[in-house]
Amino acid sequence: PATGETILEVEAARKQFGGLVAVNDVSFSVKAGEIVGLIGPNGAGKSTTFNLVTGVLSITSGKVNYRGRSIAGLSSRQIASRGIARTFQHVRLVPGMSVLENAAMGAYRRGDFAPQGGILAGLLRLNRGEEGKIMAEAKRQLERVGLGDMLDRPAGSLALGQQRILEIARALCCDPALLLLDEPAAGLRLKEKEALSELLAKLRGEGMAVLLVEHDMDFVMRLTDHIVVMEFGTKIAEGTPAQIQVHPAVLEAYLGG
Ligand code: ADP
Ligand code: MG
Repeated sequence: PATGETILEVEAARKQFGGLVAVNDVSFSVKAGEIVGLIGPNGAGKSTTFNLVTGVLSITSGKVNYRGRSIAGLSSRQIASRGIARTFQHVRLVPGMSVLENAAMGAYRRGDFAPQGGILAGLLRLNRGEEGKIMAEAKRQLERVGLGDMLDRPAGSLALGQQRILEIARALCCDPALLLLDEPAAGLRLKEKEALSELLAKLRGEGMAVLLVEHDMDFVMRLTDHIVVMEFGTKIAEGTPAQIQVHPAVLEAYLGG
């Protein structure tokens, strides 16, 4: 997509679990070539918002549009194949399989990952031509993220920072225009955070739209172009990192005023 194209539009999105309003008429958008941070205290509704965008949960009311079209009613598999890829809060790799094989699963399943049975069985059903194409794509994405010299290493032998980057490579294998990242910097050392930050800035430069849930405020403030702040399901503020850092409602939410 061209930089500036609106990739994701969330319009008055609402999710209720019985009487609990987990996401309360929240609106925001993400453009190509933009990294948007989604922040807020625990229970604010960040993960639920992700789950509405990826089709893991059905929306109670409101709209989610991807590249100008509604994704309402699509399965998470269909949404992934249209070009919305995600990583999860906890690393989901098969530690005993190689870096290349783990990345290749992204191309095969197009982001809808289930470690037991499905994928391995699926890979075995592929013909050689298909497998060759998938492996070539996985290799290309691993080179793109800087893991091109670790293709044959078991995924479990990588440092946590590299495992997170491998998960991004796996997500890139379904050729997304939008990447959703759930706490990618959690538990990383400073050098690893810097490497991750550099990679995300590079993807942004290539026109990727990124929506990032992250608790590490330093990481969020340095990297994002725009920040959406949620508390108790409601959007309480949005703006540039500089605006958010001095926003009274945000200070109140974080300092528990
Ligand atoms: P965050 O990711 O910002 O910490 P969540 O989106 O996980 O917040 O949760 C928002 C609110 O919705 C919380 O009160 C949580 O307990 C509730 N919630 C989340 N998922 C469910 C669910 N499947 N069923 C009932 N309540 C849920
Ligand atoms: Mg969460």
